Amino acid sequence: MAEEKKIAQEKRDLLLLNRKNGYDCLSDKKIHKMYEYCEGYKQFLDEGKTERECVSKAVQMAEARGFRPYHRGDSIQAGDKLYRVNRNKGVMLAVIGEETMDKGSRICAAHLDSPRLDLKQKTLYEDKELAYFKTHYYGGVRKYQWVSIPLELRGIVILKDGSSRTISIGGAENDPVFTVSDLLPHLAAEQSKKPLGEAIAAEQLNLLVGSRPFKDDEGAERVKLAILDLLFEKYGMIEEDFLSAELMAVPAMNAKDVGLDRSMIGAYGHDDRVCAYASLQALLDIQTPKHTAVCMLADKEEVGSMGVTGMKSMAFDTFMSDLCDAQNLPLRACFEKSYCLSADVTAAFDPNYPEVFERNNSAYLNYGICMSKYTGSRGKSGASDASAEVIAFMRKILNDNQIVWQTAELGKTDQGGGGTVAAYLADRDIDTLDAGVPVLSMHSPFEVVSKLDCYMAYEASVAVYGS
Ligand code: MN
Ligand code: MN
Repeated sequence: MAEEKKIAQEKRDLLLLNRKNGYDCLSDKKIHKMYEYCEGYKQFLDEGKTERECVSKAVQMAEARGFRPYHRGDSIQAGDKLYRVNRNKGVMLAVIGEETMDKGSRICAAHLDSPRLDLKQKTLYEDKELAYFKTHYYGGVRKYQWVSIPLELRGIVILKDGSSRTISIGGAENDPVFTVSDLLPHLAAEQSKKPLGEAIAAEQLNLLVGSRPFKDDEGAERVKLAILDLLFEKYGMIEEDFLSAELMAVPAMNAKDVGLDRSMIGAYGHDDRVCAYASLQALLDIQTPKHTAVCMLADKEEVGSMGVTGMKSMAFDTFMSDLCDAQNLPLRACFEKSYCLSADVTAAFDPNYPEVFERNNSAYLNYGICMSKYTGSRGKSGASDASAEVIAFMRKILNDNQIVWQTAELGKTDQGGGGTVAAYLADRDIDTLDAGVPVLSMHSPFEVVSKLDCYMAYEASVAVYGS
């Protein structure tokens, strides 16, 4: 009997796909490293609440590790650490490998933009002696989540003379914050009957920015005037300067440990800074790789990856082509042999809302980096659908490096869906696979990830660069 039981157990170990909680797989030493890594990540989140801020921070981190800007025509050598900023909103970094560019590169591509409330161009107005900024939401925002919470204002303004002013109000300890008001329950009878998606209208997402009238003034819009006066004092800006500005309201909360055991991180912008930080930090930490390692941090993923700073932009091809030209090799030879990890978040199974998930094919917190063969919606519409070979390559890398990993789809089939930058890299003739960190409350002002999964994304990036 004992012998039979043993055989059954051996068969189980051999045959069954048996994923384990990451905490049952990792050494205490690794868990300690993972907590340390997450401290750096939380700081990155607090400093980088816009794509521009993330780019500055990434450049600062890279320069501290010996990276330098790459200019077209510069020669390249194995071990060179290079970067190129794309219009202050995206950045591409590379560590030149021992093999020539025609042997392909190892790419981790993530995005730096997150859903938020952008200020409209003609933004400042006064109503009943209260001053507001009109906003236009950016990306997949559930509008009801953005009212009655403290918001910060971040971004830049280019003044008439061409000089630019960086604006960041609400992050420092004694800074004022902003908010969008909501109805009191006493008067919300009608609003409460509306479907969640309609209860707050886009044009109600108006940011409260002031209430004190300009002193001794008897004209109209005295509160608006007083706000403009404050902005003039502090930034030298006038109302017309809003037209050449990019200002955004983002949650005024810093990253926090979640849970009594501090095993999770709650913050704004995990999507996709959790993967961007992992891809970046991994590139900074690697030694000279066999194949040239490239970290691509793009903008505009949340609105479709278009535009000069999105993943569809030629800026990526130009950077890669410049590196290939330095070795007199064609870009297409590099791309067709390259491998790309499209590093983006996925939805974590949420026991509060099990009905939207298919349990066998969901991502779970603490089960490691999650590979998604395809994203998209309905019949895989919009998906790049990585091949069996492309998954096998990644599966081997992850297993060889003892990285905790899982696979999933985003929710039940026909429930909804999502996309990433994967398709745009695959379009370039690059084998590409989606993989990333599972997130609870994705796209909300306070998204939650597990520290273990964050660290596994980092280790997976290191392993891809080194493959
Ligand atoms: Mn994303
Ligand atoms: Mn997203």
